[in-house]
Amino acid sequence: MKAEIVSTGTELLLGETLNTSTHYLTGKLSSLGIEVDYHTTVGDNSQRLEQVLHKAIERSDLLITTGGLGPTADDLTKELVAKVLDLKMEKDSVSLEQIKQFFDRRKAPMPSSNEKQAFFPEGSKILPNPIGTAPGAIIEKGGKTVIILPGPPFEMEPMFNNYVWPELARIVGPNAVRMNERVIKVFGIGESALEKVLDELMNLPNLTLALLAKRAEMHIRLVARSTKITSGEALKALDEVEEEIRRRLGNKVFGRDQETMVGIVGQALNSQNLTISTAESCTGGLLGAAFTQEPGSSRFYLGGVVSYSNSLKRGILGVSEESLKAFGAVSEEVAKEMAEGIRSKTGSNLAISTTGIAGPDGGSDEKPVGLVYIGFATSKGVHAQKFQFYGERESVRQLTVQAALNEVRLRLLCKQ
Ligand code: ATP
Ligand code: MG
Repeated sequence: MKAEIVSTGTELLLGETLNTSTHYLTGKLSSLGIEVDYHTTVGDNSQRLEQVLHKAIERSDLLITTGGLGPTADDLTKELVAKVLDLKMEKDSVSLEQIKQFFDRRKAPMPSSNEKQAFFPEGSKILPNPIGTAPGAIIEKGGKTVIILPGPPFEMEPMFNNYVWPELARIVGPNAVRMNERVIKVFGIGESALEKVLDELMNLPNLTLALLAKRAEMHIRLVARSTKITSGEALKALDEVEEEIRRRLGNKVFGRDQETMVGIVGQALNSQNLTISTAESCTGGLLGAAFTQEPGSSRFYLGGVVSYSNSLKRGILGVSEESLKAFGAVSEEVAKEMAEGIRSKTGSNLAISTTGIAGPDGGSDEKPVGLVYIGFATSKGVHAQKFQFYGERESVRQLTVQAALNEVRLRLLCKQ
């Protein structure tokens, strides 16, 4: 089944409203095994909407529209679907009664313009809207299915789940092809290097593999298609490929699906009964924010210092004047002293520090933008690692946070 989604609303084209409904519906359709071939967004303009609907109905089996069901003159979706499918508009007295009741409950008279919302293309299966005044509709004609949903996401989503999902599940049948998805998350390797390492895995016959570059990590998305009956084989194929990816990438793989780097690190700290503290310069508190984003982080994260200036590095963390003078704030020595300083101040088991040049200014030949040192202190000693990141300021800062967390992960889980 070929599906497409048409969202209407000038506010979407102006960039005022993020088109979350298309994202939502596409996810739902994918999980039903229905492929979405096109997303179209069109303003509240009858001529262009008619063209778009015409094209969509011509080339797809299933069309879902959102928006344009309001009472005003620029809400035209139902009328234009009727026109394109050559159907008359008919009044639905049940819907009219429900719209009247909607206004009665609010002790307000029903504006005559709202009557329009009770008219549907003939033969429509009407989808009630308990939240707003715009019912939706399912229309089937000539082997095509058109599903009309309201614009507000909080009305559209329950309508989809209550009425459309069961209908689509019935249409695709119990033996429909479904997508079994898995995401493997990787840190410390770029897209092209990753593609090289994965090599022939990129072109396997029984599953598709895609690389998604995130700001500070890479995701490898595996999809194996199956029916309900063959889902065991699909899961086996996913397991095998995941195992092979882990074998090739080793400890560069940090998690999968919903797992996050900070979540993994938090779990490791918890299970080993360890506490940690942070001394941050170039990340300005982002590392502390990452730790505290985890529910229950108070068990392992003691706190930290944002020591942006040299005087705070000296005064609070005890970084030596000599190191700052001899090596500069962005140096291995200072990173080490920052980590040691915060560890002795807080009494945590582990401590981590960041110091670097986030840019866009402040770089030199010797210390270019993106140069970062991450210090790591334990009771056994301290060391610092040098990184050279690329990209704009926010990327450098996010990469630093992720690299710092990864440092902790490697120490705790990979016995380096
Ligand atoms: P009514 O408002 O009368 O229910 P409608 O069905 O035309 O009519 P819209 O006016 O198009 O609904 O949209 C109502 C609200 O929902 C607006 O705030 C709009 O920005 C938001 N909205 C519409 N379409 C989307 C979408 N695809 N994604 C996210 N928000 C949307
Ligand atoms: Mg609208």
